[in-house]
Amino acid sequence: MSATHAMLGALVALAVLCISGRLAAAESGGDNDARAKRFIQGYEATIRPMEIEVARRWWDANLSGKDADYQKKQEAETQLELRLADPRAFAELKAIREGRLSDPLVARQIQVLYLQYLGRQVAPELLQQIVARSNAAEQAFNVYRPKVDGKELADSDVRRVLRRSKDLLQRRAVWEASKEVGRKVEADLGELVKLRNQAARKLDFADYHVMQLALGEQDQKQVLALFDELDKLTGGPFHAAKAEIDAALAARYGISVDQLRPWHYEDPFFQESPEIAKVDFDAVYAPVDILKVCREFYVGIGLPADDIIRRSDLYEKPGKNPHAFSTDIDREGDVRVLANIVPNHYWLSTMLHELGHGVYSKYVPRSLPYALRTDAHPLTTEGIAMMFEHVADHAAWLQAMGIAVPEPEKFDAAARAMRRNRLLIFSRWCQVMFRFEKELYRNPEQDLNRLWWELVEKYQELRRPEGRNAPDYAAKIHVVAAPAYYHNYMMGEMFAAQVHHAIAREVLGGSDPFKAVYVGNKAVGEFLKERVFGPGRGMTWNDLTRHATGEPLGAKALAEDLSSYARK
Ligand SMILES: [Zn+2]
Repeated sequence: MSATHAMLGALVALAVLCISGRLAAAESGGDNDARAKRFIQGYEATIRPMEIEVARRWWDANLSGKDADYQKKQEAETQLELRLADPRAFAELKAIREGRLSDPLVARQIQVLYLQYLGRQVAPELLQQIVARSNAAEQAFNVYRPKVDGKELADSDVRRVLRRSKDLLQRRAVWEASKEVGRKVEADLGELVKLRNQAARKLDFADYHVMQLALGEQDQKQVLALFDELDKLTGGPFHAAKAEIDAALAARYGISVDQLRPWHYEDPFFQESPEIAKVDFDAVYAPVDILKVCREFYVGIGLPADDIIRRSDLYEKPGKNPHAFSTDIDREGDVRVLANIVPNHYWLSTMLHELGHGVYSKYVPRSLPYALRTDAHPLTTEGIAMMFEHVADHAAWLQAMGIAVPEPEKFDAAARAMRRNRLLIFSRWCQVMFRFEKELYRNPEQDLNRLWWELVEKYQELRRPEGRNAPDYAAKIHVVAAPAYYHNYMMGEMFAAQVHHAIAREVLGGSDPFKAVYVGNKAVGEFLKERVFGPGRGMTWNDLTRHATGEPLGAKALAEDLSSYARK
């Protein structure tokens, strides 16, 4: 689960823009430095307390689940959004940005603030239309329940059938019903895409996808090149893993491999790996004291998280958000995790993940100015969280933490296969999402049903059901509610692998990344503090990747991991 829910929300809120009042005249020379400093002081005096208030109310609402708390949160969010939409403030910022600034730290702050305001410069009528359309589509998602034989199914029913059922007719019926929401959302999504594009073009962006990436300091061509590289490196290994999975599934259902269709996989989009492992992981993980292990692990690597744990809310309660996230309330050290710990593998890796976000927030230096005192990008904090999430999938790590693993070799072989399948399957699914969204905004008039299935066939190697012609892309809520964001999850995985390799190389004396265990090594924490957390948002995500690993972000480390997982 993303710890950067808040951040994702903010990115989603970067709805659409229009050019507003270009009134500011350029200011001469050194005056611009003073003008920039004045703007930043004003920002810290007004926006910062509002952001802290939003974070506090956001936490309260997620904890209680009460309508009144959600109402309070929304009020604070609206006030903040209105402030950031102020066209006069934006004009001032734009003029400052166009002038010369002698201090790079000031220039960087102005750039970060400029992007934050730019995303909110929306013509009010257009914004209203967009908000109305996206609310309609999101509500359609929230109230939709798939129906089979007149009976309504919850999301968990769909998942249970797809995980467990051997009744092939039932599987098909449930899968098809889960896609019906696409037809309900299709028209609203179509309108939304047009409106989003319309607004993006007013700001001279080619389309909304290009703009949305640019607001996150990403260039569409550059991200595409990265996904092409990833495609080349994962195509072969994925094909091999898919053949193994298909053989196991065909045997499970008693059919031939060429009879497999999308409803034979365990996830409605085949974004997760079917469980075909022969080891009972929970027998190993269930006895683990998750909190104790997490605390000791992070202390051991020199990134103690005890204070984060103390402020956190970690167990199930009525009304509470059932997922998990980490949040930095004030950029002054008040970092908290919300979780619902149950003793199993999922919650051990989830806590390691959330505390990864937590220590990142905690160790961004307090000496940085407020605007830069945060992670470089959602993909970098997601990457660090993912890197820690996976440490426990390893017999050597468990043993070093004092946890018994009865058959370590058998355990590692199964864990390797599971990890390889998960990564490969997720990477191919991200290819579909990224390429579909890019095309959706480039040309919304094309045959989108066909485009979706062509991408699914090409990258996920699933067989399109005979004669299927439905808006299945619109059944994925991210396409509607978190547009042009999904690629960051995959880039986070690449960042995680690349940083882990740098640690293995530079901190652990060139040890095999697959065998590198961080337990008890404070130099790991030192490396992260200096090379990843230290710059905060003072660097772009790609400069930070170079600073941390010596190279720009690429798929090489991830591909090496995949081939090492394939070793028997
Ligand atoms: Zn996360």
